[in-house]
Amino acid sequence: ISLFCTPLETLVNSAETYQKAIAGFKRMDEVLSTAPDIQDKPGATDLQVTAGAVEYHDVCFNYEDVELGEGYADERPVIDHMDLSIKPGQTIALVGPSGGGKSTTCSLLPRFYDVATGSISIDGQDVRDVTQQSLRRAIGLVQQDVYLFDGTIGENIAYGKPGATAEEIAEAARRANIDAFIESLPQGYDTVVGERGSRLSGGQKQRVAIARVFLKNPKILILDEATSALDNESEEAVQESLEELARGRTTIIIAHRLSTIKHADEIATVEHGRVVERGTHEELLARGGTYARYYRMQFEGARAHELD
Ligand code: ATP
Repeated sequence: ISLFCTPLETLVNSAETYQKAIAGFKRMDEVLSTAPDIQDKPGATDLQVTAGAVEYHDVCFNYEDVELGEGYADERPVIDHMDLSIKPGQTIALVGPSGGGKSTTCSLLPRFYDVATGSISIDGQDVRDVTQQSLRRAIGLVQQDVYLFDGTIGENIAYGKPGATAEEIAEAARRANIDAFIESLPQGYDTVVGERGSRLSGGQKQRVAIARVFLKNPKILILDEATSALDNESEEAVQESLEELARGRTTIIIAHRLSTIKHADEIATVEHGRVVERGTHEELLARGGTYARYYRMQFEGARAHELD
């Protein structure tokens, strides 16, 4: 089960005032009413992001500790004494077996859930000590399933920063590689995208989501590369925009594609809720451990030449 269901992406990527997103309100309310009830501490202060260092320290987490309904009980902690430190500006790819805890690891950072024990900090500040508003402003999230509301393309991009100027929106579109497409439309940025963006292709929707995050300009980025529904060409274009987006930001990628893994500064293999090994692709292959086995299982054969 991925936590990164689309409305959460919208929740974290949008700011607190949704003035432009009138059509998005209904969905947003639904999300807010079903999101786990996490409160700001009394007297919580705003997160001060300086470099963008992320630190998971001895983190344990279980879904049964939070009220999510029936049927999720599991004796084994989903996150089990996890340590993970990510340097400012570093891109780390999380790989590992399904159910190993990659998505959960990511969802704890914007505090969709609270850790049971241990701590997660950004630039030395525990995420539980800062306001959620400032926390979510510092983190951008891009995933495969993009949630667009039935407004114009311009409004959908501006969702990343309510009140953004037309110039800022166009600049974000340019960096996300979707400006030419938008300008080719008779109504340009005023083109209505349709219910949930139905008039756009999967790749176009993704690039709108990427443009949102460019506009938001967070220091920290979470990319969920869940199985891609894109054809090769759009996948490549999206991939390029994502690489550009990750530049200069501390980035955690739930990685499925070989090309991503290859480009990451480091790879962390997550299994049974822990980082069982970490290093560059070459280092991990040479070590012949979990990653090497995983890699052989997933990628050997037809696509292995990509890593030559
Ligand atoms: P995948 O590669 O399949 O996306 P993953 O490594 O991201 O897997 P998680 O999605 O973090 O793994 O799942 C870790 C464990 O937590 C699994 O046992 C999963 O069933 C459980 N889990 C995930 N999301 C929820 C949820 N919202 N409620 C209850 N249990 C969940």
